[in-house]
Amino acid sequence: MIYADYNATAPLRPEARDAMLAALEVGANPSSVHGPGRQARKLMEKARGQVASAIRALPQDLIFTSGGTEAVALAIQGTVRKLDGDCTLLVSAVEHEAVSKNAGHSGVAVETLYVDETGKADLDWLADRLGRWDRSKSGTPVLVLMLANNETGVIQPVQEAAAMVRDAGGLTICDGVQGLGKLPVNVSLLGVDYLALSAHKAGGPQGVGALWLSSGAPLLPILFGGGQERSIRSGTENLSGIAGFGAAVDAAVAALSKMEALSSCRDAMEERLISEAGVTVFGKRVPRLPNTSNFAYAGFRAETQVMAMDLAGVAVSSGSACSSGKVKRSLVLSAMGASDTLAESAIRTSYGWRSEVSDFDRTADAWLEILHRRNLKETA
Ligand code: PLP
Repeated sequence: MIYADYNATAPLRPEARDAMLAALEVGANPSSVHGPGRQARKLMEKARGQVASAIRALPQDLIFTSGGTEAVALAIQGTVRKLDGDCTLLVSAVEHEAVSKNAGHSGVAVETLYVDETGKADLDWLADRLGRWDRSKSGTPVLVLMLANNETGVIQPVQEAAAMVRDAGGLTICDGVQGLGKLPVNVSLLGVDYLALSAHKAGGPQGVGALWLSSGAPLLPILFGGGQERSIRSGTENLSGIAGFGAAVDAAVAALSKMEALSSCRDAMEERLISEAGVTVFGKRVPRLPNTSNFAYAGFRAETQVMAMDLAGVAVSSGSACSSGKVKRSLVLSAMGASDTLAESAIRTSYGWRSEVSDFDRTADAWLEILHRRNLKETA
């Protein structure tokens, strides 16, 4: 089986597995003061250092969570609570549902930052909106903009946008889940106030993530209890998950050049699909994650393609598959102006640390064969 669904979950890196097993052996609570507890804390702090170093941050500014969704929820809801609701969220139209739904449930006004047909946020609109900002009406501007899109891989101009928001006295929350381990990430350069991360997109385990926040960034907890994680996120930490997270991210950062090299295989695959089948590739003209290719052949439904590819031994996804496994039309592609027919025909392939050059050729071979069979059926 060729696994081409890394943006859903990357396979566990061996370094992460080893670190997890070692942490499981410790079997103690990092908050306990006895020897085993101190050993557990040592492993946790090692991982905190590894994740912080991967984003060029200080370990003390990192809060471990149960994943990307919780990190995003903490950033959005925790900021809104601390600002007493006196803010307006400016949320890009291509955010993951973890972001858009938490924004929608935050109880404050949400305005949409639209994207152009390439998938990039419209910074002219943002400049204009911030220029007209009336603090007495809209409170603090809080931009919510992702680092890279999970469906198309399109990288957002976060640095420029965050600078504009900072100049306007606002805050920026960035969902960095898809960027970690695929791109160099430097929180100081990005200039954001909060960065949400998830382990399982970078070769760590599922169910663990982190929120980085710049020192002094306003935030109230959304979970209350034993006061772990500087009382920002109560609950006994997932020690083995955290240890796996740290080790995975360490390995991913060391292998960033291998990740970068995937882009030439991806580009060659896309050129073949364009020349032999005339597919539309989303985000092709703008900076993208090196591992992601989202393409559509109008009228060939995504779920049919995903099932046929599975039978052919290639695991891909429709960018818009939801947790129930059902496929719905991609809101991301619609936001980029794709017609319904095109948006319903898009599949996402995404590669990573275990992918080989031949995986790209075999993906293209399988997909072209499937299209050929489908076209024969259509003309019969
Ligand atoms: N943000 C983005 C861009 C994602 O792709 C995902 C997962 O698909 C999430 C957030 C949620 O992360 P998690 O699965 O760790 O909750």
